[in-house]
Amino acid sequence: MTEPSSGVEPAATAALGRWRKLRSSLYVALAEPESVNLGLIVGSHGALLVDTGSTPAQGRAIRASLAAVTDVPLTAVVVTHWHYDHAFGLAAFADVPRIAHESVRFRLSSAEAAAEARRLGLDPQELGQPSVEIAVATAFDLGDRRVEIAHLGRGHTDGDLLVVVSDADVVFAGDLLESAGPPSFGPDSVPDEWPATLDGLIGLMTATTLAVPGHGEPVGREFVFEQRGRIAAQAADMPGPPRPTLPLA
Ligand SMILES: [Zn+2]
Repeated sequence: MTEPSSGVEPAATAALGRWRKLRSSLYVALAEPESVNLGLIVGSHGALLVDTGSTPAQGRAIRASLAAVTDVPLTAVVVTHWHYDHAFGLAAFADVPRIAHESVRFRLSSAEAAAEARRLGLDPQELGQPSVEIAVATAFDLGDRRVEIAHLGRGHTDGDLLVVVSDADVVFAGDLLESAGPPSFGPDSVPDEWPATLDGLIGLMTATTLAVPGHGEPVGREFVFEQRGRIAAQAADMPGPPRPTLPLA
């Protein structure tokens, strides 16, 4: 998920689940209405949040919920991609670094994002923006652990980020990966390149790595490999840019 789509009433459905421990000092929580996996990575000196919820109000609720998990300060937030259910809570984090791919600012300023905001009953001017825009990669030091954030290529959108917590052997994959349902192809997806981006993710994983999808339970490498194959098969059936053909000898 999720393209601008379903006609939800955000106030009634913006529930936030409890944080549950996934691995050492690493937590996930579900944000409705799209059942997005939020991530919280806690180090000795700071914490990093993965994705911000669907509205500024939900962003504030997420922020308030962190106190139940840790008393270390929030050091940064990462937006895995621009879709509303991941990025429209950004405004609640105006005082900390907000990391996103460099395409996200443009996407969040687009007419499409404004229309989505209005559908949710929000003023488009309320939407926050990233403050740390990356083309390829950056890293954050949380004290006793380091988190790496990388754009390995396009796929679900043109600005998908992975968040790698190597000491915990966990990768947050955003909507490049889905286990709650099939991967979501939208008008801003890049089906031709998505499989190669997942190859990059598979290359980061070992037999024990957990990948946290944007929606659904965490999965292992075998699942990612199978989903990569399904996406490649689906992409091959979609109209795309002309492919060069080699003349037969
Ligand atoms: Zn999405």
